[in-house]
Amino acid sequence: MTVRVALAGCTGSIGTQTIEVVEAEPASYELVALGASGRQPDVLVEQCERVRPKLLAVAHEAAHAELVARLPWLEVRSGPDALASLAEEADVVVNGVVGFAGLSVTLATLNAGRRLALANKESLIAAGPVVQRARRTPGAELVPVDSEHCAVHQCLRANDNRGRVARVILTASGGPFRGRTQAELEHVSLEDALQHPTWTMGPKITVDSSTLMNKGLEVIEANELFGAVAGDHGWGIGFDEIDVVVHPQSVVHSMVEYTDAAVIAQLSMPDMRLPIGYALAFPDRIGTPFGRIDFATLGRLDFEPPDLHAFPCLGLAYEAGRRGETAPAWLNAANEIAVAAFLDGKIAWNQIPVVIAGTLDHHDGAAASSPEAVVSADADARRIAADVIARMPTP
Ligand code: MG
Repeated sequence: MTVRVALAGCTGSIGTQTIEVVEAEPASYELVALGASGRQPDVLVEQCERVRPKLLAVAHEAAHAELVARLPWLEVRSGPDALASLAEEADVVVNGVVGFAGLSVTLATLNAGRRLALANKESLIAAGPVVQRARRTPGAELVPVDSEHCAVHQCLRANDNRGRVARVILTASGGPFRGRTQAELEHVSLEDALQHPTWTMGPKITVDSSTLMNKGLEVIEANELFGAVAGDHGWGIGFDEIDVVVHPQSVVHSMVEYTDAAVIAQLSMPDMRLPIGYALAFPDRIGTPFGRIDFATLGRLDFEPPDLHAFPCLGLAYEAGRRGETAPAWLNAANEIAVAAFLDGKIAWNQIPVVIAGTLDHHDGAAASSPEAVVSADADARRIAADVIARMPTP
């Protein structure tokens, strides 16, 4: 029997790669539903004609009439709840939506008791306590698609003893500015920030990689996925047990150290189709390799500590993560606003952490008690981040 897959965020980088994974394994997986913002109707029409799903969901109602006219054979849903409605239609939902907008898909999938293949780390980070409650729904299962957490997920399953995990070590490529000092980072361009040395990804996460905020968000994500707060899901790991090491080759995707100091690592070529396939197939594996390591040409693996002075976003993320409740939602919202302003040419690259720190200074300490509380924290932080930017000198 084939596994029915729904894909939210189908036009993005994770979305197009998910389609490739499913097409490589037609006997095992079937894409029954696609979902996207609806801002790229031409891409959606092309994808629907290629994939032949039973359902298409778009967030923007304005796109509805055109899509219905161009895809008369397909059920098209639109509106603010359309993407979340995909959860009921499949066995696995891949959440490849970019940013906080992915929260409704994360919650709807877990609340429907389905497997969530989560590439949208922002929803887990911003709404940690709310997502943890949704994970307790019978049948609900969260398998991370983020390559580092996919690696940790694999390494943790190499040893059944939950009490013997000493440390999770997340690897970071270091991004395009690795090795540069704070002074050398004063005048970097947008073009430079978008040149990732090892991974091909969308613009938001590529900028996050250049600031190390992506790794900071991943530290919070690891705490949510494997930490003590996760109850039955937990491996007893907290922020003190999550370390970051820079590894420029992006071949070791992360590691777990046990109490006897044995370290188990997961290695593979940097290609998101592996974590996507892993999240679809777990506890099985897909049969298709997307790139094999050639150890003879690989030659060496390098490791170095992150430069917290030149890349302050990583420290800001640890701080917000330790504060907990709505602080990570504020961190994430301020980062989304700052990165959008940088992509628009409104602020300089090195002002991104200044915006985030300036926003977090106003954090009101509200609890993440409900989805509404998280949405409201997100909105507050966005407003304050925009104010901080408005008061900044233009680059
Ligand atoms: Mg990652």
